[in-house]
Amino acid sequence: MKNENKVYNVALLPGDGIGPAIINATTKVIDKVSNEYGFKVISKTALIGGAAIDKVGVPLPDETVKICKASDAVLMGAVGGTKWDNLAGEMRPEKGILGIRHELGLFANLRPATVYKSLKNASPLKDYILDGGVDIMVIRELTGGIYFGKRGSQHTDGECFSAYDTEEYSVPEIERIARVAFNVARGRKKKVCSVDKANVLDSSMLWRNTVIKVSKEFQDVDLSHMYVDNAAMQLIRNPGQFDTILTNNIFGDILSDEASQITGSIGMLPSASLGSTKLGLYEPIHGSAPDIAHLKIANPIATILSAAMMLRYSLNEVEAAVKIENAVIKFLDVGYRTADIAVNNQKYLTTDETSERIIELL
Ligand code: NAD
Repeated sequence: MKNENKVYNVALLPGDGIGPAIINATTKVIDKVSNEYGFKVISKTALIGGAAIDKVGVPLPDETVKICKASDAVLMGAVGGTKWDNLAGEMRPEKGILGIRHELGLFANLRPATVYKSLKNASPLKDYILDGGVDIMVIRELTGGIYFGKRGSQHTDGECFSAYDTEEYSVPEIERIARVAFNVARGRKKKVCSVDKANVLDSSMLWRNTVIKVSKEFQDVDLSHMYVDNAAMQLIRNPGQFDTILTNNIFGDILSDEASQITGSIGMLPSASLGSTKLGLYEPIHGSAPDIAHLKIANPIATILSAAMMLRYSLNEVEAAVKIENAVIKFLDVGYRTADIAVNNQKYLTTDETSERIIELL
């Protein structure tokens, strides 16, 4: 069980708002599991977002890129805040995230959406729909498709009267994201549902045919296909039918947000961005929550679960990842709550108390 002598370098990018507090709470959990499983995590903290703008004038300093590239994984908090809202495009804190994803060549975005039994009340869906359990992994292509395709507009008398964007994918782009999805599904229930619009779009027909070809390399994984309009309905009607959803950039953008809403708790949801090497970027799906930044009540669980994803996908410490995920389930089952998931005047824990309780339950 112990992985003696294993040392991993992790870049920490706390960012802004609640970012530093949730990263701090998470590093304590990482320290505890690394002790237990006999590996060592050496972390280096670097600047990103508004914090970087304030210190060195840009949202993604070269030094940060250097540190991240020299690491085995990157764990990020969140960026942004009203202080930087009026800065021009390239200088905005969010450019730091887009920039680091680009620098690290991350093309696959993984967003789990899990409805925890003890948090069923937080979901907007009815109990009978959730009864069979919901544990979905949405895998979204991150660097291609319509957000990066040819675009343009035509103007008459200074007024725009038409505009277009182009959805374009190449076979290698689809193959590599499909392989990520099949590999991830192997560590789950071995079911991939590829979502497209192949009844209308040529790019989706190519998507479907390419995914079918790649699936031949993964005979142990079941592949199904669904049109995106149906997938949007099925996520609400019967989310339990899904395990791993594989889809393009724009459909993934929309469906991963929809899936996250089924869980009803933004402070609980982690994410990972992966590329063609083991080096990945892990971050909660929520933002920097400036409204609660100084209250010490931010829920660190999304970041703690992001660290679990990091252990699983970048550091190959799967047992340690499962340990953290189970501790979070116990935390909720015992009845502990953070401010964002407490209901009816339930008592809630601070950020640090939350990580302390989770550490006790590891
Ligand atoms: P947000 O996710 O920061 O907050 C939305 C709501 O959820 C707020 O009420 C907040 O208090 C609450 N919330 C979020 N995370 C929480 C947590 N861990 N614990 C408890 N409550 C939590 O979204 P927003 O308010 O739209 O954006 C705030 C800033 O964050 C903006 O500057 C935005 O650009 C930025 N942002 C950054 C990222 C990122 O870093 N990846 C993502 C989204 C938004």
